[in-house]
Amino acid sequence: MGNRYREPEFPKPFDFVPFTGPMEKRARPGHDRFRLHEALSGELLYELVVQTPLHISSGNYALTEDLGLTAKNVVRDLYKVTVDGRKLPAIPGSSLRGAVRAAVEAVTNSCVGVTQERDLPPGVSRGCRPPNLCPACGIFGAMSRLGRVSFGDAVIDLSRSDTSIARMPALFRPRPRQGRAYTSSARIFKGRKFYFHGLPAQHREGTYIEVIKTGSHLAGQVAFSSLTEAELGVLFFALGLDNSFQLAVGGGKPVAMGRILIKPQELRLRQTTSFTTYEAGDAVFTGAELADSLQRYMSAAEQTLIQPAQRDKLRQILNPANKRPAPTGVY
Ligand SMILES: [Zn+2]
Repeated sequence: MGNRYREPEFPKPFDFVPFTGPMEKRARPGHDRFRLHEALSGELLYELVVQTPLHISSGNYALTEDLGLTAKNVVRDLYKVTVDGRKLPAIPGSSLRGAVRAAVEAVTNSCVGVTQERDLPPGVSRGCRPPNLCPACGIFGAMSRLGRVSFGDAVIDLSRSDTSIARMPALFRPRPRQGRAYTSSARIFKGRKFYFHGLPAQHREGTYIEVIKTGSHLAGQVAFSSLTEAELGVLFFALGLDNSFQLAVGGGKPVAMGRILIKPQELRLRQTTSFTTYEAGDAVFTGAELADSLQRYMSAAEQTLIQPAQRDKLRQILNPANKRPAPTGVY
């Protein structure tokens, strides 16, 4: 790399939530074994407000002219879905699911499913084999076992949203790995990596990308079936519904892109009256009743599934008030 121009170095834009103790694996029911008393099924409908420019690539390139802009540039355009014949920018359910699962894994005694760390401490493994599942695999699924949550795409509300073109710097890392992740005497396991939030920058170099602008509103929903109160609570916690942290989705997390605020609008719970029949209609919670319900389930999760030290570290890393400047060079 000898005489290449060296950009200023920025502090690393991420930190780690330490691994928890050994995984809590136990046989968890699938869809086939329905537990009537504690089985919660239904949907949460929410509004998603974009907090920093958000880009999830369609995987294709477009021309600025085709996006209604004049300059002739090639742009990585946004993932879009077709609604009533119109193509609308959206956040795919899989992106939301990945972000929420990472948060659930981090705060519960779960295996390492979505994070990429190489060195895992004793008692923590990569993935579970049914029927013995950790809390995260129990909720999101593992191997042949289907998950009990399903994320829909969050679709833009055009009346309250806007898109624009930005640039995404090349996020290269010329520095070699700084030694091994453990010392000679004892291994130090770093944990699960999350990027700090911060203040996004206007980059003058890099790929042109289409972004959903800050302040845009999207509508989404997550469906769940046969969850316990604590499982539903940890799902709500991981969505950031206690307002103690915010998730990020899409590209550019190192440069503080993709921060989202999820505002619950309506909780629908299936009503069950017997083993075989469903009562017509759902219990629907909005407003103060919705807030009470969310609190109740999140409290159940706090008492059983959520590990306090990991929860606090996650809140610290994903603090939306973080004012770190986004790196414009090497970190
Ligand atoms: Zn697992």
